[in-house]
Amino acid sequence: MSAVLVVNSGSSSFKYQLIDMETEEPLASGLVERIGESSGHTVHNGPNGKAERTLEIRDHTAGFQAMLEAFEANGPSLEEFPPVAVGHRVVHGGKRFFEPTVITPLVEINIEDLAELAPLHNPANLQGIRAAEKAFPDVPHVAVFDTAFHQTLAPEAYTYAIDAELAERHRIRRYGFHGTSHKYVSETAAQFLGEPLGDLKQIVLHLGNGASACAVDGGRSIDTSMGLTPLEGLVMGTRSGDIDPAVLIHLSRRAHLDTAGLDELLNRRSGLLGLSGRGDMRDVEESASGGDAGARLALDTYLHRLKHYIGAYIAILGGLDVLTFTAGVGENSSTVRAGAVAGLEALGIRLDEERNAERVAGPHIISADDSAVTVLVVPTNEELEIARQTLSAIGAG
Ligand code: ADP
Repeated sequence: MSAVLVVNSGSSSFKYQLIDMETEEPLASGLVERIGESSGHTVHNGPNGKAERTLEIRDHTAGFQAMLEAFEANGPSLEEFPPVAVGHRVVHGGKRFFEPTVITPLVEINIEDLAELAPLHNPANLQGIRAAEKAFPDVPHVAVFDTAFHQTLAPEAYTYAIDAELAERHRIRRYGFHGTSHKYVSETAAQFLGEPLGDLKQIVLHLGNGASACAVDGGRSIDTSMGLTPLEGLVMGTRSGDIDPAVLIHLSRRAHLDTAGLDELLNRRSGLLGLSGRGDMRDVEESASGGDAGARLALDTYLHRLKHYIGAYIAILGGLDVLTFTAGVGENSSTVRAGAVAGLEALGIRLDEERNAERVAGPHIISADDSAVTVLVVPTNEELEIARQTLSAIGAG
């Protein structure tokens, strides 16, 4: 019996899942939040249901202590299901990390060094790693990078057309994100269809609060919409996605926004929220169908951008076999799925309205039988993918 603990750490919270690797089902999952506050909060879902606690959680180390107490009090017993390894989600692996990597002091230094490229994420991921190492000192810890799957991009796909020397010095290029999800979903799609992964040209649309598209050729990422940071590409909950870079120059000159102001505007006050006042797709859809013009425009802009990327990636791939929707919006919104591919019949994409409207758990086909491209909904499972990659990194997968 082997279990893997998966940790996804932010600056003031972390999520965890203990996964039984024989069944690939979670044995427990939970959340430790408001770290650094006197009223920290934990939620633990174990064999006896959900247990919550409010207590002071001074730092991540105290957070892991609280997690161990939750296992102790609510099960399952970590003596009965000891994790053989801990897998950590790390957002930025730069160009150095192209596969899951067993964490050593040198790896930690490298993750820290990449904080320059992901200042919000990598330091928080590292805090989680260091605290988890104290809680589980006797097992290997493995870093699984959001960027790793996209390390197969060709230079022409990852290069920005700016001064080459300046770009090199500041490590400016497309890295891409959501790699763990794009990998899991493209592999699951092939498996579900019973087709060899190596034969398929796929587009994966990961549409959550953050959103990205990925062109996957024979199981390898060849293009993706997020770039140096997770800001580029699709319209997102609060992020603008693609924008003429001159808008920033214009705003800094005319609206006197400094770098912090521009960062805040594009990452936190744009996207669906900026256009409609609502960052959650459910609210946007509801308002749009109620006749709200801002919400309608937000939805239409979101769909227009999606269509733009579908077309672009069909060209990059030189054809398309499978188009897959995943994550919160992709798995749940039949409106978004229908809107994204409306009018693409000439490109071989035809949805079946009834299949698209049906609520089905697990991977399912939503295209019509006569559609040349198979359109799927595949629920993503980043935790399981991290756990699988963790096992493979320690030579047990
Ligand atoms: P995250 O990127 O934070 O992991 P998720 O993948 O959980 O996000 O996706 C969250 C998004 O999914 C939210 O914007 C939410 O509006 C959207 N969502 C969830 N359920 C639905 C639904 N039934 N219809 C439309 N959007 C939905």
